[in-house]
Amino acid sequence: MSSSLLSGLNPEQLAAVTLPAVPALILAGAGSGKTRVLTTRIVWLLSTGQVSQHGILAVTFTNKAAKEMLTRVSAQLPINARSLWIGTFHGLCNRMLRLHWRDAGLPEAFQIMDTADQLSAIKRLLKALNIDDEKYPPRELMYYINANKEEGRRPAEVEAWDQHSQQMKQLYDEYERQCRREGVVDFAELLLRCYELLRDNAALRSHYHARFRYILVDEFQDTNRLQYKWLKLLAGKGDPLDRLLGKQPAATASDEAAAVFAVGDDDQSIYAFRGANVGNMADFQRDFAVETVIKLEQNYRSHGNILDAANALIAHNRGRLGKNLWTSESAGDPIRVYEAASDFEEASFVVDEVRNLQREGTPLADMAVLYRSNAQSRVIEHALFQAGLPYRVYGGLRFFERQEIKHALAYLRLIANPDDDNALLRVINFPVRGIGNRTLEILGESARGSGTSIWQAACSGGAGRSAAAVARFVQLIEGMRAQQDGLQLAELVQLAIEQSGLIEHYRNEKEGQERLENLDQLISAAAVFVQENENDVNAFLAHASLEAGDHEAAPGQDALQLMSVHASKGLEFHAVFLTGIEEGLFPHDNSLNSPEGLEEERRLAYVAITRARRKLYLSLAQSRMLHGQTRFSIASRFLSEIPEDLLKWLNRGYAPSAMPARKIEKAAPEHGLRVGCTVEHAKFGQGVVVDYDGTGPGANVQVNFGAAGLKWLALEYAKLKLV
Ligand code: ATP
Ligand code: MG
Repeated sequence: MSSSLLSGLNPEQLAAVTLPAVPALILAGAGSGKTRVLTTRIVWLLSTGQVSQHGILAVTFTNKAAKEMLTRVSAQLPINARSLWIGTFHGLCNRMLRLHWRDAGLPEAFQIMDTADQLSAIKRLLKALNIDDEKYPPRELMYYINANKEEGRRPAEVEAWDQHSQQMKQLYDEYERQCRREGVVDFAELLLRCYELLRDNAALRSHYHARFRYILVDEFQDTNRLQYKWLKLLAGKGDPLDRLLGKQPAATASDEAAAVFAVGDDDQSIYAFRGANVGNMADFQRDFAVETVIKLEQNYRSHGNILDAANALIAHNRGRLGKNLWTSESAGDPIRVYEAASDFEEASFVVDEVRNLQREGTPLADMAVLYRSNAQSRVIEHALFQAGLPYRVYGGLRFFERQEIKHALAYLRLIANPDDDNALLRVINFPVRGIGNRTLEILGESARGSGTSIWQAACSGGAGRSAAAVARFVQLIEGMRAQQDGLQLAELVQLAIEQSGLIEHYRNEKEGQERLENLDQLISAAAVFVQENENDVNAFLAHASLEAGDHEAAPGQDALQLMSVHASKGLEFHAVFLTGIEEGLFPHDNSLNSPEGLEEERRLAYVAITRARRKLYLSLAQSRMLHGQTRFSIASRFLSEIPEDLLKWLNRGYAPSAMPARKIEKAAPEHGLRVGCTVEHAKFGQGVVVDYDGTGPGANVQVNFGAAGLKWLALEYAKLKLV
């Protein structure tokens, strides 16, 4: 083991890294080294020979994080990174289902639908069933299906109480049939199917249970119910309720549970809207009888002012598990605030400041522009483009989502599995082959009539006037299928884009040059994929669906990072620009009618702020165009929850009369208890000052005591001690 592995760790980190094989919860704030501890523990377990690389499973939240973890581990140990089960929940479930497709009741070449595919599959279903899509909006149905799957409910287990809910349930059922017919699975299905596989197959369960003795989970606060249940099965802690219901026999091989090492931060739970459940932390402690809870309180990421701002902000939330974060770093720069007249001006502020930082020597890749809503990126991108600053957007229109790439992938999907109706419908008439909607309707009806895929209907002929064109399409696909054996993946991609006519089509298109380049990129992506993984078209297609977000434009090029706050989780940057810090945008309108919603927004702001190592900029615009409307905003309440003395307004006094509202200014209180400082109360314990009013004997302060709640106290009587 390299001696430096453990040397830089603080005592709590060291204790966490070197825990014996017991279930443990590492509960710690942002930047305290959770991810570092988790990765170091993997290396430590392997290098001390306590477990082989086959015995570890680690789950992280994003592909970027998984990749980083793999790189770090394999940099320190001479092992084959591919053999390690490190990935996202979706990635790991996909891996398991590929190995056990038969037991999972899937075709060998099952294909994964991304969200856009899923939505179009649902629209197609509604159309085929003649359902009014105003009464049953496709998007709503999609959320309904996914939410049920994420709770582990199949149609038969869904409750329905009136006509509408019965119809929804029925549609869920029809949707499942359609997916089965076509051999496709959506994201939620990957998890549910894998969960059911383990639940219903005792032999497999005990195999994996015996195998993965160490299970490590990063960002545990954002796991949803189903992910937690999946982990429990894998770790050999079946759901007692399921067991009672006879759905799941008791664990077999060994009753000793795997050592689950969960790290998380309740203050960074930002996926409740997608079913994440912070309650999983408490359940985990109970279900696994966790005795080891380690808190890490030193933040290694940010300068003091940034951390103080984050702490003061999050102190406004109630019901926190309670953590104190401190840093030995200096206070550093103040947080710079810029109030622009418009979103355009905000964007040009960002451009100017990025240039300044770049001049000072900060690489672009070490700066991030964050926004609450993806729609905000357009104006910023435009400004960056005009300024000639290279940038990379995470989670925008991603490489694998571009039209030409989706077309090419659809041909590949058909080569792998011609029953994939989504893929077939996407390209049966692209490039144009004279196969019209009427023909497709006939084929669709005939497929439904005989319970087959459209491909099979097409193979059995009989498509009216376009029969010849359909037959040629069938021949084309059959021809490609016949040539695939022995080809390298990159060659197969090339064959697909050439023989399909895509290349020729885009060559004749006026603005097709960029698309041709992208298709070329796809060939390269396939070659790289084979080097790093395997020569398998299904694995490549799964990669395209699952890892779409991680495509980096020109590798190696220094580029500014643009992403939503959600996508920034776990990452860190020298400088962070948090834009659009306005009421209605951040916190978002949708969250304002419930206290839970507002608290989730505040956690999101906490995540955003804690991404910054050295420099943090908060910007807002008095007016902005969003979704085709100009909206006028006032500063976000979050801004006034940050102690004034940490902020530096760059353009204070900017057109004050035009300013709809500015954070309420308060004179520094004479009692000296500023917002953000920690105080001690004889009865309530320690808390953080979040507000104050009144003067002299009438002075009151509001303090958040964590578990004891938020309280207004009269200073004269409260006898607070400054800590
Ligand atoms: P988040 O909650 O945002 O995911 P985290 O708790 O996972 O944060 P890490 O990303 O692991 O925190 O660590 C934050 C930064 O602090 C990283 O740059 C990491 O390398 C550094 N760091 C962590 N522990 C130490 C240490 N003991 N000494 C020096 N640097 C450290
Ligand atoms: Mg982390």
